[in-house]
Amino acid sequence: MRIVVVGGGIIGATCAAFLAERGADVTVVDADKPRFGTSLGNAGHIVVSHSIPFAAPGMVKQGMRSFMKADGAFAFSSRPGNGTLDWLIGFARHCNAKNVSAFHSGLDQLLHRSAELLLSDSTLEINTRGLWQVFTGSGAEDRAAHEAAHMREYDVAVRDIDRDELRAEPGLTSNVNAAIELSEDLGLDPSQLWLRMRQRSETAGARWIGGAVTDLSSAPVVRTSSGEEQLEADVVVLAAGAWSPAVARSLNVDLPIRAAKGYSVTLQGVESPPTRPMLLMDQRTALNPLASGLRLSARYEMTTPDDREIVGHRIQGLISRARQAVELPEVNTSVEPWTGVRPASIDGAPYIGFLPQRTTSHRVLVASGHGMIGTALAAGTADLVTRLTYDEPVSDAEARLSPSRLFA
Ligand SMILES: Cc1cc2nc3c(=O)[nH]c(=O)nc-3n(C[C@H](O)[C@H](O)[C@H](O)COP(=O)(O)OP(=O)(O)OC[C@H]3O[C@@H](n4cnc5c(N)ncnc54)[C@H](O)[C@@H]3O)c2cc1C
Repeated sequence: MRIVVVGGGIIGATCAAFLAERGADVTVVDADKPRFGTSLGNAGHIVVSHSIPFAAPGMVKQGMRSFMKADGAFAFSSRPGNGTLDWLIGFARHCNAKNVSAFHSGLDQLLHRSAELLLSDSTLEINTRGLWQVFTGSGAEDRAAHEAAHMREYDVAVRDIDRDELRAEPGLTSNVNAAIELSEDLGLDPSQLWLRMRQRSETAGARWIGGAVTDLSSAPVVRTSSGEEQLEADVVVLAAGAWSPAVARSLNVDLPIRAAKGYSVTLQGVESPPTRPMLLMDQRTALNPLASGLRLSARYEMTTPDDREIVGHRIQGLISRARQAVELPEVNTSVEPWTGVRPASIDGAPYIGFLPQRTTSHRVLVASGHGMIGTALAAGTADLVTRLTYDEPVSDAEARLSPSRLFA
């Protein structure tokens, strides 16, 4: 089987690894943006617990409130791009219980499979201490209990954290008054994961080419700085993240994926950081203690895929909000600011499956739109992509993630 993977972020790299290990003849084409790619500097939370699609009841209210605040978690960048308003209206229409029941089970299966596959790779450094959701200020205990009850409705493994355990966790300030543990969630360094998947793909024989594929209507042509190369493929896997809609347009397919920009910083010199991945719920900030430093990340700005502007006060805002919950040095001598764009789908679930459109040369399998949880979903996605490619069984819940829902 000859496979061309368009896009070498974490989704493309993991698909390439699994397909090549299965024996396929794999070529990965990446437009040389992984160093800016969203897959490298993100929070690195493997959130097995996040099986509720992002478009869910309550999100519209939450988003509206946030859009009104100067420093809210959801925002528009200075270049939101054409069609953002229509996308937001479409997203709001999907924020209902029907949407949750359509995708919850498929996401749950993929997330659990991902965790299982990652844990079976002994070369990866994985934090298995569970992810804590941390609450500050007054009413923290009630908010924690409410969140735990909500998670348990969806059978998420939740553990209540008592005061003694909370106080024993290093690095938290006295503002932190409650926490719950999402016990199956994991933490890792996303760039280590990406490198490992690239290495696995290459060890299994995959070839990586720097260049762009813009037209899928015939045998893919890679445009590189030194010219063009035509590739033979039985299957093209479209895994170009927030750029996937631009490539799908060559098949007259409108993939409703928008770029949602976020920031992270990696702080060095934090003397006694927390020991596990955390979500600072009242600060809407993710935290992950990595070997390279303490990573903080936040924000969800509607933007265009090539927006790489790092707005200085956003970084300062991110650090000072985190400081409400975590002991951080007053002066950070070494801060690595980073930004990346999540590929956000209109119904909050990824598109994984074949397009019904036929080309004369190959079939197109989309693996894109993973939004907030692409790192967590990558291994499960690649496993599903491999089964789809080799015409092996998939569950009904997995089949509902197919892009065919766009043509129903
Ligand atoms: C601040 C922040 C924090 C996050 N935290 C987490 C987290 O804790 N856990 C989690 O699971 N997820 C997290 N995410 C989301 C996660 O980063 C994304 O879902 C994931 O990286 C998407 O991967 P991808 O491979 O689809 O896209 P990308 O990583 O963007 O890769 C797409 C690739 O396609 C290439 N490309 C584009 N156009 C073309 C073309 N025409 N031809 C060839 N190649 C092309 C690009 O160069 C790029 O390398 C976070 C995101 C952000 C921004």
